[in-house]
Amino acid sequence: MSPTQPLIFRKGLDMKEAVAGELAAAYHSRLVDDVRASDFRYEAGRLTVHLAREFGFCYGVDRAVDYAYQARARFPGRTVLLTGEIIHNPHVNDRLRASGIRFLSDPAERSRELGPDDVVILPAFGVTVAEMLRLTARGCTLVDTTCGSVLNVWKNVVRYAQDGFTAVIHGKVKHEETRATASQALKYPKGRYLIVLDRAEAAFVCDYIRSGGDRSAFLERFDGAVSPGFDPDVDLAHIGCANQTTMLMSESLEIGDMFRDAMRTRYGDDALPAHFRAFDTICSATQERQDAVEALLDAQPLDLMLVIGGYNSSNTCNLARICAARVRTYHIADPECLVSPEEIRHRPIGAPSTTTAPEATTTDWLPTGGPVTVGLTAGASTPNNIVGQVIQTLTEFCR
Ligand code: SF4
Repeated sequence: MSPTQPLIFRKGLDMKEAVAGELAAAYHSRLVDDVRASDFRYEAGRLTVHLAREFGFCYGVDRAVDYAYQARARFPGRTVLLTGEIIHNPHVNDRLRASGIRFLSDPAERSRELGPDDVVILPAFGVTVAEMLRLTARGCTLVDTTCGSVLNVWKNVVRYAQDGFTAVIHGKVKHEETRATASQALKYPKGRYLIVLDRAEAAFVCDYIRSGGDRSAFLERFDGAVSPGFDPDVDLAHIGCANQTTMLMSESLEIGDMFRDAMRTRYGDDALPAHFRAFDTICSATQERQDAVEALLDAQPLDLMLVIGGYNSSNTCNLARICAARVRTYHIADPECLVSPEEIRHRPIGAPSTTTAPEATTTDWLPTGGPVTVGLTAGASTPNNIVGQVIQTLTEFCR
């Protein structure tokens, strides 16, 4: 095989059955199965836990982790690498490291010269166009686990670029998925992108669309969040909305409406379709987890809510934001965060979604004496065994 024609696996590696037992042993939880079978309710002593009806591994993460284990089984004599974290969960990434998979993002691997003997796994949130070209040019065997929901966003962003529409992406500039999605906009010469983090940034852009403004101030504010050579006086005339698939759904919808209104004001109703496009890009798994936690909060009076997931997991951070607006909420990475009945370590709600943001410690977090009702959910990259361990620890604390 020529080094420029790499083998790319996108639909499995025929090793599913061979790794099924290992996956179950690593990530399954009988306790969680039992809670699910008991109408998502668990009782032990003075503790009652209500589990959200949709939580934990989504279909995209499930598939990516499965493919990583399959890749290692399929190529036993070759070096198997990941471009970086396969998903944003430290427990899952550490297990993959322990199984012999190397991470190109680790300091020891960064200067590695890749070649045709290497097998490289692309994560669920995809890689940039430039990274894909680099790996392809090296002739590596590629195991592409990019989620179908992410590919759907890319398809629409590429269409925007083809038609000369700027992709306005609701997402986090530094998130791997958003960087990969933005890079898709540059596949065509007329392609542009602009990344907005939240309503405040969207409102700033909408004001510019309606009434113009200070071009330099605009470019300064969105430094690093726009395509090279971006000119707001030209590139906001035709825009199409997209988003990182794991953002807060209600916020993404609101931001889409804000841009539609601004473009309508600027160009009028009749010309709107020629200047503005939008499509639904929140993935169904993200939506279901956000809906389920809202339903749980509606249905149950809770003493507190625990949200489990990596501190750099966007969808987990957004679940925590939803809960914190309604009940005392702790976003924890793993069961070890439950230090004791008196002390909990957690990511402050609203802190940057990075692994380096400082962790907070709170005391007297768990009611002592009398019944205690805890709501529980987990982000799309959190395996069931972690959820089960959290329930077990809570049980011990409430004896
Ligand atoms: S959160 Fe959605 S887009 Fe991301 S991997 Fe899961 S299913 Fe795919």
